Amino acid sequence: MNLSYWEYKTWLSNIDFTVVGSGIVGLNCALQLKKKHPKAKIVVLEKGLMPQGASTKNAGFACFGSISEILSDLKTHSQEEVLKLVQNRWDGINTLREILGDSILDLQLHGGHELFLNADKALYEKCISELDIANELLYPVFGSDAFKLSQNSFKFKGIEQNYISHGFEGQIDTGKMMQGLLKKVQSEGITILNGVTVKSFQDNPDVVAIETNAFSFSSKKLCIAVNGFSSDLIREKVKPARAQVIITKPIKNLAIKGTFHVQEGYYYFRNIDNRILLGGGRNLDFESEETIEFGTTKLVQNKLADLLKEVILSDTPFEIDYAWSGVMGVGKQKKPIVKLLSNNVACGVRLGGMGIAIGTSVGRQLAVTFE
Ligand SMILES: Cc1cc2nc3c(=O)[nH]c(=O)nc-3n(C[C@H](O)[C@H](O)[C@H](O)COP(=O)(O)OP(=O)(O)OC[C@H]3O[C@@H](n4cnc5c(N)ncnc54)[C@H](O)[C@@H]3O)c2cc1C
Repeated sequence: MNLSYWEYKTWLSNIDFTVVGSGIVGLNCALQLKKKHPKAKIVVLEKGLMPQGASTKNAGFACFGSISEILSDLKTHSQEEVLKLVQNRWDGINTLREILGDSILDLQLHGGHELFLNADKALYEKCISELDIANELLYPVFGSDAFKLSQNSFKFKGIEQNYISHGFEGQIDTGKMMQGLLKKVQSEGITILNGVTVKSFQDNPDVVAIETNAFSFSSKKLCIAVNGFSSDLIREKVKPARAQVIITKPIKNLAIKGTFHVQEGYYYFRNIDNRILLGGGRNLDFESEETIEFGTTKLVQNKLADLLKEVILSDTPFEIDYAWSGVMGVGKQKKPIVKLLSNNVACGVRLGGMGIAIGTSVGRQLAVTFE
């Protein structure tokens, strides 16, 4: 596309910082850059018409790891690492609350619960037997016991007698969070250009040359916040992981309230606007779900519908209203990658399944990698 003199001069010349990706990480990075460099010219490039990654597709859990996830993480991470992961999630949610406020986030503190299907009795018993270990490990974060047993008050079917509940877990309205962040970024005088895909870049000594689907330009610094889409742009150990979600139509007198985890977090559901939102099922076919293509599959959609019918809403008539998917960035380690890739290029990627909790701090760290 041939841009005019005015277009170049106004939007694309003398750029100090370019951020690629307008998810929770990119937007927080842009805000932090503005705070540190009030006079800087900052532009955010986003390939979608709206943010099109995980940040507008997720389930809106403000969560810190269910008990089975914590115990599973302890198999691959040291105690110190797990403690740090949970601390970062807790700090991240609190920072997000400070930035936007609870009413913009529509934060609801109903608590979270892990349910154990009858088929997962062994896992249930293991989690109960290690409840005290997990509580002791996480005491420095929460200042009291995070996990406790509670009754099956919502009368789910086919599950073990008790939930293991997390008293500090909450839920947000994902759309409101992203709209709040976008408004904040725009009010700081930061430009967001949508429909622009960064194709490649070259770090020259003083400036980064950037090629997009629409134009070429240069920027003093480049911050890459594309998470699950990383392999299109950089060579880091981040794999895409698609996650599928369904939502019911509104259900009269829906009593279920809270965030719920099933099968080590591979399934999750919550209430929202008198509906049930349910996601997961990646574990049914990891290979097919390792993709950046949006879409749904019969295998996963049928399993989600079965869970609704058999476990969550077995006595309640419901209809599925719609389904969607989002793409996460995952790796063997749960730690995000925030680092300099060259003198003037840095990335903040691999947010995993809890990017709402850590996205704010990853964005802020990305903004200071050049210092
Ligand atoms: C279905 C689902 C449910 C989830 N549920 C939860 C939850 O309940 N709680 C929680 O904490 N986390 C959850 N997550 C994870 C969380 O949403 C992510 O970790 C987080 O949103 C990642 O944010 P990000 O900014 O790094 O990436 P993204 O939000 O993916 O943002 C990256 C952006 O970069 C853009 N982009 C990519 N390539 C380019 C390019 N070349 N040029 C320009 N733009 C580009 C994309 O369009 C996208 O908007 C869930 C994720 C999914 C998919």
